[in-house]
Amino acid sequence: MRGPLLLLLASVVLGAGAAVAAVTERSDGLRPPGLTARTAAPSGSAVARATPLPPALAPAPAVPAPTPAATPTPVPTPPSMGTAPASRALGRPFRDGRLENGVLLPAQGPDHRTWDAPLQRSPSRAWRRWGTDVLVATVLEVLAEHRAAHPESPPILVGDLSRPRGGIFDQRYGGLGHASHQNGLDVDIYYPRKDRLPIEPARASQVDRRLSQDLVDRFLARGAEFVFVGRNVRLRGPKARVSKLPHHDDHLHVRIPDPDGVGGR
Ligand SMILES: [Zn+2]
Repeated sequence: MRGPLLLLLASVVLGAGAAVAAVTERSDGLRPPGLTARTAAPSGSAVARATPLPPALAPAPAVPAPTPAATPTPVPTPPSMGTAPASRALGRPFRDGRLENGVLLPAQGPDHRTWDAPLQRSPSRAWRRWGTDVLVATVLEVLAEHRAAHPESPPILVGDLSRPRGGIFDQRYGGLGHASHQNGLDVDIYYPRKDRLPIEPARASQVDRRLSQDLVDRFLARGAEFVFVGRNVRLRGPKARVSKLPHHDDHLHVRIPDPDGVGGR
């Protein structure tokens, strides 16, 4: 896998990767929020690092890529390089999870709103919406693609991601709580309602199945590791990756793979 990863990293550094604007904010709160261009691998299954790889991961000699883009011309350094360290998902999503260098999902954007289930209001509290840089970029990109393909779809409600530094996110934090959502790899996305109201569906019959299936399909296409859906919303996907669970008739839960290769179901 190292070869393809190298090529991917090279192409991203050379400017071929998809650039995503995401509001970033340090979890220590010392840096004011600001717009920072970040890069993300299109598949969501590999990370485009904005910082140099640690020695253990750094490949030995650089491999010359046989493409015109790999000419020796110096490449301008993206503004984010060296200022925003890549996020790290530590532990497991459901046990001993922690999040380093997480990124804050904006309270709202052109294609989304955030939903605070315990308070039944939008936007959600900021401490409930931290994820890895790849997760936040994946959510924003998938929702933008979804609404570009379906202009009739309303801005999508995004629920909980993780806490600023990850960790347990159970019922002590309101509502039913989460068994997972511990290391920045999980996000809840509310199904669009047939009546387009910007609130969570109260029951499966209120869910727009066509738009919801499109969201499931797009997250799968972007490399989601698992998608959890409700038992009564009749959404489909490959059995190995899409599971029906209780308490998911109002939202789907997406987990992206840990780009560092740790984690599990
Ligand atoms: Zn969830």
